[in-house]
Amino acid sequence: MNTTLAADRWQSVRDQLVGLPGGDGVNIAHEAVDRHVAEGFGSTIAMRFLGKHEAPDDAGEQYTYQRLATETSRFAHVLRGLGVWPGETVFLLAGRVPRLYVAALGALKGQHVVCPLFSAFGPEPIKQRMVLGNAAVLVTTASLYRRKIAGIRDELPVRHVILLDVDDQADAPPDTWAYGPLFDRAIGVFQITATSPETPALLHFTSGTTGTPKGALHVHDAVAMHRATTEQVFGLRRGDVYWCTADPGWVTGTSYGIIGPLTVGATLIVDEAEFDAQRWYQILEGQRVDVWYTAPTAIRMLMYAGAEAAAGIDLSSVQRAFSVGEPLSAEAVKWGIEHLAITFRDTWWQTETGAMMIANTAEDVVLAGSMGRPVCGIQAGLLTTTDAGEIVLDDSGHVIELDDPDRIGMIALRAGWPSMFRSYLDNEERYRKCFADGWYLAGDLARRDPSGSFWFVGRADDVIKTAGHLIGPFEVESVLNEHPDVTGSGVYGIPDPVAGEIIHARIVLRRGVEPTDQTISSVMAHARRRLGAAVAPREIVAVDRLPITRSGKVMRRVLRARELGLPEGDLSTLEGPVTDDQATDHEGSDS
Ligand code: ATP
Ligand code: MG
Repeated sequence: MNTTLAADRWQSVRDQLVGLPGGDGVNIAHEAVDRHVAEGFGSTIAMRFLGKHEAPDDAGEQYTYQRLATETSRFAHVLRGLGVWPGETVFLLAGRVPRLYVAALGALKGQHVVCPLFSAFGPEPIKQRMVLGNAAVLVTTASLYRRKIAGIRDELPVRHVILLDVDDQADAPPDTWAYGPLFDRAIGVFQITATSPETPALLHFTSGTTGTPKGALHVHDAVAMHRATTEQVFGLRRGDVYWCTADPGWVTGTSYGIIGPLTVGATLIVDEAEFDAQRWYQILEGQRVDVWYTAPTAIRMLMYAGAEAAAGIDLSSVQRAFSVGEPLSAEAVKWGIEHLAITFRDTWWQTETGAMMIANTAEDVVLAGSMGRPVCGIQAGLLTTTDAGEIVLDDSGHVIELDDPDRIGMIALRAGWPSMFRSYLDNEERYRKCFADGWYLAGDLARRDPSGSFWFVGRADDVIKTAGHLIGPFEVESVLNEHPDVTGSGVYGIPDPVAGEIIHARIVLRRGVEPTDQTISSVMAHARRRLGAAVAPREIVAVDRLPITRSGKVMRRVLRARELGLPEGDLSTLEGPVTDDQATDHEGSDS
């Protein structure tokens, strides 16, 4: 395809944006906030924040678009007043409290690069990211500062630390700023200066599922894709109530927990509390949520809690629900339909893609187990790979696209969409390796059926080659998880001289079930029956917990390394306590 055509393709996506007044370019915060005020919708509720102790049907702390516009302007002035330059990076480390969202959008107004981190990260992962991202400012809370930052402050590049929950400078520890007085002094009108669509805007670290997290840099142009996909996939409209359960600490919580839904003028629900099945159902009911975006881990936990947790709760407001982050099994889709009368629709994308690329849209008839089709002008292909997962080029140096529905290939996206990452921080070579022949190589393997729907097989790093079969761990895990005693599993390959690799599984059993030989045999028999002897795991061992990333993904590489006695690699994104030090962090409250 030539570049003119590629440019045209994105024109219709970009046309949905209003742009800065006077043709001054594109700024995410203008599209998400100020435009609505300018268009006369300032009194619409933009965000409703539920504190962690607030009832699920509470009105919460409400932000109209006008209030959000004013407060984000003030925050943009705060940064400017501190001498922070456009292009400098502002890190955010806090729970899901209103001022975190104000800080993110305010920093975007000032053309600072925003990098949200999970507040549950320990000091080491925080330091790694802040050093790599050359943080100029850290916005956090007093307690997080005390517990995680004070001890490493000297090693961080930050010039300013702003404590969101401190309203009196006398209460701020040395070398930190209290938010209150800075904010009170700032005026509530900020004129966003000309912003080129290519201006860096967001820095997101990948989940670290397959190795050390990479810092993917995105630009203001990304908002074109955030908006277009929010409209096309979610079918979200002005005034709809929308809830994204992801934390802004990973890309979903920013692209769709803040930006996308605000650009269409929806009302966002933000809950500060951690997962609780009953609370979640009560929020869906109490807030009259129209559109809900969540993840397979959460859906699995809801399944585990049992349909009883939803008993007596009216979920009829929920018109559409979506999932992202890991494969959504057909079983989970069926469970949702049967027990909640909700059809979960799968969406596929990555930190690098910045926005949804393949999805079951609001309009589509859902094929349970499929990720759906490319959205919003995205051209997705499946490319031929070697057994080792490397892309195969033909004699003239071009990639080879597959169109046989039975073949497995690597998902690739025609490069150039607006929310495509523009670099990996400090890793130009790795960035270059993500592209071939005008395609972005996603690293995930899939099939495509004759209707054009994609079916996830596995990450190229995770797929198992055993006795001539190519097996995605997810296929095996979904079957293991179907067993009534199993609540989670991780499947991986172990080298074998005869079969190439053999399949091993680690499972977590339902609370109260003992890991007896009989239980394991029953799980094994179920796997053999459903998968056949060639694909069923050769070994199944019960463990107390699986290594899971903060964004809820099974780290199969860690299971494999543990078994083979290899180094476990980067564990900074692991959920839950790793060391005693982090155990304390994990238990402590955020603010
Ligand atoms: P890292 O790149 O550091 O190993 P990661 O790939 O998990 O971490 P993310 O960008 O958060 O980091 O996740 C994107 C990946 O998540 C995808 O490449 C894919 O493997 C998986 N994923 C996302 N959505 C889906 C989905 N709907 N079905 C299957 N897998 C999905
Ligand atoms: Mg990845």
